[in-house]
Amino acid sequence: MSLPSFRLLRPKTLDGAIAMMAEYAGDLKVVAGGTDLLPSMKQKLFTPGYVLDLRGIIELRGIRSVSGKGIEIGALTALTTIEHDPTIRRDYPVLYEATKTVASPVLRNMGTIGGNLCLDTRCLWYNQSLVWRQSCGFCLKKDGELCHVAPGGKYCWATFSGDTPPALLCLGAEIEIAGPGGVRCTPLSEFYVNDGIVRLHLAANEIVTRVFLPESSAGWRGSYQKLRVRGSIDYPLAGVAVALKLRSGRVEDARVAITAVNPAPFLVKDVDAQLVGAMPSEDIAERIGDLAASTAKPLTTSALTPEYRREMVRVFTKRAILRAAAN
Ligand SMILES: Cc1cc2nc3c(=O)[nH]c(=O)nc-3n(C[C@H](O)[C@H](O)[C@H](O)COP(=O)(O)OP(=O)(O)OC[C@H]3O[C@@H](n4cnc5c(N)ncnc54)[C@H](O)[C@@H]3O)c2cc1C
Ligand code: SF4
Repeated sequence: MSLPSFRLLRPKTLDGAIAMMAEYAGDLKVVAGGTDLLPSMKQKLFTPGYVLDLRGIIELRGIRSVSGKGIEIGALTALTTIEHDPTIRRDYPVLYEATKTVASPVLRNMGTIGGNLCLDTRCLWYNQSLVWRQSCGFCLKKDGELCHVAPGGKYCWATFSGDTPPALLCLGAEIEIAGPGGVRCTPLSEFYVNDGIVRLHLAANEIVTRVFLPESSAGWRGSYQKLRVRGSIDYPLAGVAVALKLRSGRVEDARVAITAVNPAPFLVKDVDAQLVGAMPSEDIAERIGDLAASTAKPLTTSALTPEYRREMVRVFTKRAILRAAAN
């Protein structure tokens, strides 16, 4: 499979990038590490006339502490850099654990946090070569008129399959987005759309520029558990992140987020009502596991059955709570 032909744009500044995006609007894709976009272009899921390479914008790289605020991570920061950052490992362990499960070491060297946040959604019927898709019939997400997973519906169930967003949701992260109108900040929890085609609250002429981890969630215990076919490389087919704020063994605050089982990653509701004030125990962890599993709505978008993936959300939630409490 070869890449379709395109013109490569390489701005050196954010303003330059925004201007180019306006000029080639509608026929342009943004690339950071390229580890998700380029395979999809080879499969002819995207055939843009222009590809805008963000990597020349040096100001969007790196991790820094901002006094009184927390940690700022540039969107072009490689996942390897996050994985090996001592402050993140110490203060935001759930993000450390999630990051080190993404793909493989080589892909984490290239892959960026911005790309991980903005991943396309995935489905067995979609992430295939053009020949494969032609032979089976196209679907709603690309070139077709029906959904093979839920025929009759007008909705795409392709799953968001990134590992770091559930960890960032547990930490209450915010993101900065730049576009022609300037810069805006939004809680990550408001960034995703639970629709496999729409996916993000991000206009075609906008890019994610930074991620902020609040100081208020520094020091929370954390754990990330992930289901995948090959432990060394694959995308998640279910993932659970847990972050707990503990004082004298009791839970002061708690968040659980799930990924890879819905078109969007999201925080499980009402977790705090069950956990806050309690000592983490098998019983409570099991109840939260039931809650998380009832939030997961996997369909036949992958090779593993929806029933197994939902069950693993229950199991992983329980494990992650007990592990985070013991860490
Ligand atoms: C074999 C394999 C296994 C993988 N396994 C995993 C896995 O286990 N977990 C996982 O999470 N991912 C996995 N990935 C996907 C990928 O490697 C990572 O998600 C990586 O973080 C993507 O970052 P990137 O910079 O390479 O993104 P790119 O491929 O450059 O971009 C991904 C998408 O985000 C958009 N984008 C990129 N940066 C920005 C930005 N700053 N603003 C707006 N839009 C942007 C692009 O236009 C594109 O649509 C896997 C990929 C492969 C090939
Ligand atoms: S869920 Fe349906 S519409 Fe979406 S990618 Fe899969 S088959 Fe296509």
